Amino acid sequence: MDRKIALTGDRPTGKLHLGHFVGSLKNRVGLQQTHDQYIMIADTQALTDYFENSQLVVDNIVEVVSDYLAVGIDPELSTIFIQSQVPALCELTMYYMNLVTVARLERNPTVKAELTQKDFGKSIPAGFLCYPVSQTADITAFKAEVVPVGEDQLPMIEQANEIVRRFNRLYNTQCLKEITAHLSETKRLVGIDGKAKASKSLNNAIFLSDTPEIIKEKVYAMFTDPGHLKVSDPGKVEGNVVFQYLDAFHPNADEVSALKSHYRKGGLGDTVIKSLLNDVLQQLLQPIREKRAQLKKENLFDLCFEGTQKARSLAEKTLSEVKTAIGIDFFEKRNFYQRNH
Ligand code: ATP
Ligand code: MG
Repeated sequence: MDRKIALTGDRPTGKLHLGHFVGSLKNRVGLQQTHDQYIMIADTQALTDYFENSQLVVDNIVEVVSDYLAVGIDPELSTIFIQSQVPALCELTMYYMNLVTVARLERNPTVKAELTQKDFGKSIPAGFLCYPVSQTADITAFKAEVVPVGEDQLPMIEQANEIVRRFNRLYNTQCLKEITAHLSETKRLVGIDGKAKASKSLNNAIFLSDTPEIIKEKVYAMFTDPGHLKVSDPGKVEGNVVFQYLDAFHPNADEVSALKSHYRKGGLGDTVIKSLLNDVLQQLLQPIREKRAQLKKENLFDLCFEGTQKARSLAEKTLSEVKTAIGIDFFEKRNFYQRNH
């Protein structure tokens, strides 16, 4: 039986962090066993807000691929490719752009939040505003039905499905497939500063490649409960970053639940929970860091090249179906003259 296709990607705007790990990477490691999985380094998308700093995007491609392999993504099972090297994706974007309004793009909650965060003011790059459309092209080009992402991406999937339905209806075809988001248990990991989301651009994350010293420093700087001044004081668990990380990473949920009750009652100090979280994270990240250090950079580009070749041929096939559905497949079928003469 044909396996379903899964596709997801990351912007090469920095190294990957624990938010990526719980929000998406862990799922991808599982999905590669059951799905045909494509993983895209979204450099074209990264350029929509890093166009003035293209070197940063270029430099981070190899970092992101290193993070993939370090967490257990296997290039034999998953196709890793570079977005900018698959031109069919740009072509698809162009056709889909007609099926969405500027007002709808501006209403997309993720875009809205990012526009505020990036402080573009009135000078919003058109490419940035349209990136949900290019994301629709990325997913549909591979006929992906499953997309393992964090919660911040749900509005993107919703918008992509609107485009898919509109395209199929308008051109009377079934060639584009509807998409389902594959959320993990931790849908959104908070930043170490307590902000809603750990993110590369906010630099409020623990990175998979951080040294043991930096991990410890970041854990000990985490926001807890400002009202919990003395160890004996009752403390708040809600909004407490350390507990949110323990929920996401501690292997034993019962133990975390017992710690929460103790903390609420009073008598459990911040240093104790931070030290426990530090141990948990050190244990998780040590093997990832070691595996990462053994990777050879020159091999990473080779595997991206191979993956990109494979991605190109699949994306071109979909592009040709899309053009046929619209009726602009003139030379592909060499029927241009037959039609017009
Ligand atoms: P940037 O700040 O450049 O946007 P980012 O940290 O948001 O970077 P992306 O490359 O945009 O990372 O996201 C890649 C994938 O990782 C997406 O599926 C996203 O939902 C998921 N992800 C990123 N951060 C988190 C997080 N804090 N919690 C859960 N999932 C996350
Ligand atoms: Mg992001």
